[in-house]
Formats: sequence, structure tokens, C-alpha cells
Amino acid sequence: MDIGIPILTYHSIDNSGSVISTSPTKFQSQMKCLHDKHFNIISLNEMVKCIYERQTVPPKSVVITFDDGFKNIYSTAYPVLKEYGFTATVFLVPGYCGRNNQWDGQPKEIPVMDLLDWEEIREMADNSIDFGAHTMDHADLSRLLAEQAREEIVNSKHVIQKYLKKDVRLFAYPYGRLTNEIKDIIKTNFSGACSVKLDFASLESDIYTLPRIDMYYFSKNNYFEYIDTSIFFVYVKFRSILRSIRNKVVTKL
Ligand SMILES: [Zn+2]
Repeated sequence: MDIGIPILTYHSIDNSGSVISTSPTKFQSQMKCLHDKHFNIISLNEMVKCIYERQTVPPKSVVITFDDGFKNIYSTAYPVLKEYGFTATVFLVPGYCGRNNQWDGQPKEIPVMDLLDWEEIREMADNSIDFGAHTMDHADLSRLLAEQAREEIVNSKHVIQKYLKKDVRLFAYPYGRLTNEIKDIIKTNFSGACSVKLDFASLESDIYTLPRIDMYYFSKNNYFEYIDTSIFFVYVKFRSILRSIRNKVVTKL
């Protein structure tokens, strides 16, 4: 069964049990599972290129992404990725690199955690890890004036490029929030962008609102082990339906 390509979204790899956390043991076991089941870890750039050029994606492809750029990616996730020879894309908030995640709008239940510094980012960039932009300040772009949004977006791309001396072609919308105007700004500056819509990506996906699978839904159970079966597909679809019902209820309230 062709179920589409899972683009996995991790945030922090730590033991706090928060909604953005996957424990180091769980992360290690999920990467081992992908390795043992012979999945192909392709980069997000490769995936976007395949969709753009309408080429087929290698069978059993999976993409790994991290949002926000927590320091524990370097200390905990990166050694595991290296062990298995996996690539990943990390979306950075350059206005906060080397500091912590206390940006405006951060919910109180999210623990305060350190973010990657440029030295760590450079080392990973030299070793198969890609970096994308996630605005300068983790801004909710849908609430900004077009000019402010453009600055948040374009500056984040330029600062990362300046530090890495590499082209930055990928973007992730903070909180998944965007408008048509923002999408147009993204289109002129990037080759692809990730949303937070919970679904599998496919060759039909819009490369500027790629759906992903939030690993929150796999942080406290063992369903990830079914990634090569239809159980995984059904579970993701089920969570996606529940989430859209909840969002509709919340919007009505
Ligand atoms: Zn984020």
C-alpha cells in the first residue's frame, strides 16, 4: 500500500514529558526502528525536489525534521542520527540561537530550554544536517503586517545563510499559521515550506504547505513500531480527524 511519505516533526529530545518532548530513549528506539526496517531517510530538500520535478521518491522514504533548534538536538539526537547515517532538517529561530526558547507567545506549560548556538549548528551543517528558517523570533506571521512578516521571514533566511555560508531553501511556519500573502512571500524566498497539518506527504502535496507527522502522537506509546504497516497509517489518519474536530469545536467556542 502506498501510504505517502511521513515527514516526522520532533521538537525537543528530553525527559520532561512536555507536549514538545520526546525522551532520548524513545528517540533512539524510533531511529533504530527506521534503521532495522530498512527505511530510506531522505532530506527534505530531496523530497521537495522530487515533488517539484515530479520524480518518484525512493520506496520506504521518511523525512526527519526538528522545529525550533533545541540544544539537545546537538547533544542527544545528532549522535544517534550520525550512528545510523541519517540526515535531518532543523528549523532555526536565529534571533534566539545561543539563548533559550522564551520568545513572545510561548505557552507557560512549555519548559524553558536552551537553543543551539552557531558553533553547534555549523558542526552539524558540515555533517549532513540541513538547516531551514522558522522566522527571526518565532513570530505568529498571521498576526503581523505584511512588511513585518517579510522582515521576520527574509532576515531569518539571511542570518542563517551568513553563519553557514550555505543557501537556505526551506521554511517552517511557526504554529503552522499563514495567510495567502505570507505564502507568497515564502514562495519568492524558499523552495519549500512545512505546515503543521497532520498527514502524509505525497507527490501531489503543495510544496509550500507540506503536511507533517507530529511525533507528539508517538511520544507516549509504541505505535511507531508499526510504521511499515497499515496500523501506522490508520492511527495517523485517526489522530488527524480527532484534531480537526477539536479545532472546529475550539473555533466555534
Ligand atoms: Zn516552532
